Amino acid sequence: MIHFSGGPIADFITGWAIIPFRRNPHHWKQIHANLEGEALYQSKCGLKAVTTNGVQPLGIGNFTKCRKCLAATVNKA
Ligand SMILES: [Zn+2]
Repeated sequence: MIHFSGGPIADFITGWAIIPFRRNPHHWKQIHANLEGEALYQSKCGLKAVTTNGVQPLGIGNFTKCRKCLAATVNKA
């Protein structure tokens, strides 16, 4: 199966996304942002990632979601 991601997500705050250059989709939450367009995200499984004006979160397309994030999300619902 060919994996493809979705398009960039504008004004991403929280939810599922692929943040380059993490390979898999995680459930991210924005924890900091500055006026230069940089934003810091933390995933439910404990990863951190930074986006900039040139590196935007992408829709997850048909990639397989992170199992740890998925478990954390399901348990909370
Ligand atoms: Zn994860």
